[in-house]
Amino acid sequence: MILDRCKGLCLSGIALALLSCAHAPAGAPSAAPSGHIVVVATTSTLASLVRAVAGDAATVQALVPIGVSPETYEPAPRDVVALENASVVFENGAGLETWLARLITTSATHAHVIILSDAVTGANRGESPYRPQATNPHFWLDPNYAELYVARITQALSAADPANANAYHANATAEIARLQQLDLWTRKRIATIPVQQRAMITFHDAWYYFDRRYGLRDIGAIEPSPGREPSAKDLAALIELARVNHVRAIFAEPEFSPRLAKQLADGAGISTVTDLYDDSLGDTPGLSTYEGMMRHNVTTIVQALGS
Ligand SMILES: [Zn+2]
Repeated sequence: MILDRCKGLCLSGIALALLSCAHAPAGAPSAAPSGHIVVVATTSTLASLVRAVAGDAATVQALVPIGVSPETYEPAPRDVVALENASVVFENGAGLETWLARLITTSATHAHVIILSDAVTGANRGESPYRPQATNPHFWLDPNYAELYVARITQALSAADPANANAYHANATAEIARLQQLDLWTRKRIATIPVQQRAMITFHDAWYYFDRRYGLRDIGAIEPSPGREPSAKDLAALIELARVNHVRAIFAEPEFSPRLAKQLADGAGISTVTDLYDDSLGDTPGLSTYEGMMRHNVTTIVQALGS
């Protein structure tokens, strides 16, 4: 256990290096307390990581409500108000929030805009088979990449609010330790699934980086692109893929209609799981943080594939 913990901590070199770069310079004048800064994150999942760093020192607000897809979201007037008040805006980027750019131009005039997916670079960025020529935006579902997000969040909050930089760094160090434990636990749980059963078909292509990290085969997604329904031919091809690859379950999220997942599962003679959480947190206490959401997801995946 001690060895595992050490290994996890050592693996986080990149995130910790980024954190140390973001430390407020020694002896820098500390600003007088001036109340909370207001910070906006586009999704509830990203807002959870921001809240973990912000702690009590900043007010964090998510734009996309719980249970709504950020990939097909239509902004509301309250989003304009939130952006007008924001000191920092965190977006995922990489094509997740196509509705945001115009809002930022018109409303986030006083904010630093941080694209969290920029924290993942080079070969770590992957193209989803279902988004040809486009980056798959769902980096945060790999806890190792979530660590990089936390480091980027810490840099941005410390720059915007230097008086609380020490608190942000202390909170980030604790969150990164939690993410490392989550990663180790996930590896152990996924390892209990027989190798030939480690295959997922999902509603949309959110699980690409998670699957790549933990050795699951990403067989396909029901939605060919955000908000687009598959044709009968697409569904027939997926049913065949499910059969050939001995896929044991189709995974979907509560924000999407279960109809297509059920149709596919019935066609392939396998089960349906409709309570994975990825773009959005859930609305119960156990699903109200990134870590809680991921532990629920891993438990659900292991139950569906490992039995
Ligand atoms: Zn998504």
